[in-house]
Amino acid sequence: MILHIDMDAFYASIEQRDHPELKGQPVVVGGSKTGRGVVAAASYEAREYGIHSAMPGRRAAELCPHAVFVRGRMSHYVDVGRQVRDIFGRFTPVIQPLSLDEAFLDVSGTERLHGDAETIGRRIKDAIQDELRLTASVGIAPRKFVAKIASDLDKPNGFVVVDESELISFLDPLPVEKLWGVGSVGQHRLHRLGLRTIRDIRRYDPALLASHLGDWGNHLWKLANGIDSRAVVPDRHAKQISHERTFSDDQTDAELLHAVVCFLCEQTTMRLRMSKQKAATITLKYRREDFKTFTKSRSTGSPTDQTADVIQIASELLDQMRRSEPRAVRLLGVSLGSLVAWDRPVQLSLFDDQQQKQAERKVDQVVDQLSQQLGAKTVYRAASHRWRNRK
Ligand SMILES: [Mg+2]
Repeated sequence: MILHIDMDAFYASIEQRDHPELKGQPVVVGGSKTGRGVVAAASYEAREYGIHSAMPGRRAAELCPHAVFVRGRMSHYVDVGRQVRDIFGRFTPVIQPLSLDEAFLDVSGTERLHGDAETIGRRIKDAIQDELRLTASVGIAPRKFVAKIASDLDKPNGFVVVDESELISFLDPLPVEKLWGVGSVGQHRLHRLGLRTIRDIRRYDPALLASHLGDWGNHLWKLANGIDSRAVVPDRHAKQISHERTFSDDQTDAELLHAVVCFLCEQTTMRLRMSKQKAATITLKYRREDFKTFTKSRSTGSPTDQTADVIQIASELLDQMRRSEPRAVRLLGVSLGSLVAWDRPVQLSLFDDQQQKQAERKVDQVVDQLSQQLGAKTVYRAASHRWRNRK
């Protein structure tokens, strides 16, 4: 099963979240009432007035004179998009982003670890809601293009699952323009052939359709019949793998903080190995009780994917932070950066100092395997026990 996850009115929702006085208001991001700029995003309240992205700001102001125009904060949206991506990454390494706020996820193979596709979809949606206070719409289907249609069907805050057996009955009544790649020109051409719903295309003679529309006709006929062999192609340019935890009470207990860091290292390195990459930079994110946030990075020397290496460096970074910023801690995060692909088996060295490394590699392999067979919470290091089993 493939998931398509799309954030609802992403930029506008971030502004409404960060500025509570904008909640329930028609918010327009980008453009201005008088200037020439265009609308980058509109809240659902603004959309009710017919405002949409790429519309001139002046036109938006005509449609809704009391709309609140806010300046876009692109680098902030990129940061939040990264947080969303990090949540996806907890569940599968196979993520194909379509934009900052939208991605396909293939979860086959991680189901033993996290539950079936529907469970994973719910958990992602809940994590986005609980941790980021934003909503996403989720579509789940055995075909990529159907998952995309499904996520859009019940927006905002939608959750639509289409099983293999329901594919045709789901697609049939939809208008042709719901098919991915059918824009206004395509829609026009299909209408001229008398094709208005996906059912009309499915029942049309495929050879005749191809004679009218060429390869594109073939392609559409296949889609209308639920045939789509396109796979989710993971983004190989992901810049980092990160995981963080916010505490319900501010923490000062050194042992517990170390357990948290160990847990974060276990989570990130398992994902690192699943994505067949190694990291050359480790960053600790540290937020004090007063919300002042610090990050501290260190290079690993040579790229590594071993949990023990990452725990050692991250723990040292934590010790340094605690010495310079001893106040209570609200959030800890670990992120692995400077990622390099690793698809060849690593040459085992015969030198003595490598024996410890080999033993650690074995531990990582066994933990990864058992976690995939038995579930993520079954086997872990004693050092993270206190955090994982806190009351
Ligand atoms: Mg979106």
